[in-house]
Amino acid sequence: MSVATAEVLSAPEFRAAGTDLSERRRSGLSCGSVIDLTASPDTIGIAWNADGAAQIGALTAIAAIASDARLAQAYPGIAAAAQGLATPQIRHMATLGGNLAQRSRCWYFRNPQIGCLKKGGSDCPARAGNHLYHVAFDLGPCVAPHPSTMAMALLAYDAKIVTDRRSGLSITDLLGDGSNGTADNLLASGERIERIELPAPLAGERALYKRAISRTHAEWPLVEICVRAVISGGTFQQVHITAGGIAPVPLRLAASVAALEGKPADASTIAQAAELATSGARPLTMTGYKLDLLTGLVRDLVERIAA
Ligand SMILES: Cc1cc2nc3c(=O)[nH]c(=O)nc-3n(C[C@H](O)[C@H](O)[C@H](O)COP(=O)(O)OP(=O)(O)OC[C@H]3O[C@@H](n4cnc5c(N)ncnc54)[C@H](O)[C@@H]3O)c2cc1C
Repeated sequence: MSVATAEVLSAPEFRAAGTDLSERRRSGLSCGSVIDLTASPDTIGIAWNADGAAQIGALTAIAAIASDARLAQAYPGIAAAAQGLATPQIRHMATLGGNLAQRSRCWYFRNPQIGCLKKGGSDCPARAGNHLYHVAFDLGPCVAPHPSTMAMALLAYDAKIVTDRRSGLSITDLLGDGSNGTADNLLASGERIERIELPAPLAGERALYKRAISRTHAEWPLVEICVRAVISGGTFQQVHITAGGIAPVPLRLAASVAALEGKPADASTIAQAAELATSGARPLTMTGYKLDLLTGLVRDLVERIAA
């Protein structure tokens, strides 16, 4: 088994609310310099464009996103994802930027005594070890699922990220395609997320979020999904389905989307879309159960959107 390198452990990090960073400081996993982020009008709160599109500052608390009535009306999938994650205490403190940039929850990564690809090591100990909560879409050398619920929901809304150096970044630009096992995101060293820009909501769209969990609260999901669609003339239009907890990055369920787009909003279309949710899956020895959860979540949410 590989060992962590001092170089990786000593990289400087931002502290927004510190709900992720503080734990890694305590365990010795992060021991470089800390740069505290302070809010400015550009980096905190929710602003609205004339066309009804929202911009959310990176230092906005998850609880503020969860409780904003206008956001829940315009972007119900994002509001519901924020309402569902972590605990009231964590949501009250944790920020959107920190949620997107939080580090992996893999128990091997979190153990400072064990090396892994994300700590400069040469292999992923979870692959041959205990990976019960890990990926069911094996897309890269690291088999830890990406932990960010908000990234999964923002992907469904085609959100763009603005940093202090770049703008117009998609969630895929930020997190990659899962083939880079060495990092949780593709931000450059010292690059800071400033805000998230959302497109204006679609006329008549509906959206839902749901997670499958192993205990009632205070846990990352086993699988989570966000579904958006317009139903017009009895057919599904402009469908977006994204899933988290199943891959090294949040995934778009392209085969399910293709099975719904332009098709009648009926039971047979929905059943086919649910079956196709696992297209491309490559579960690990212990993660096959996630495919049943994924199929069930897609069926449930698409049925409710069509009802
Ligand atoms: C019991 C429990 C359950 C949880 N369940 C979930 C869950 O279901 N889904 C989920 O998504 N999360 C979950 N979380 C994680 C929680 O959401 C994150 O800890 C939190 O969002 C991190 O935000 P923060 O502001 O505290 O980040 P910090 O801890 O301050 O920072 C985290 C990381 O992000 C970087 N960072 C912070 N802000 C920025 C920025 N603006 N630009 C660039 N980098 C930045 C920091 O350098 C650091 O590496 C859970 C946490 C706990 C304790």
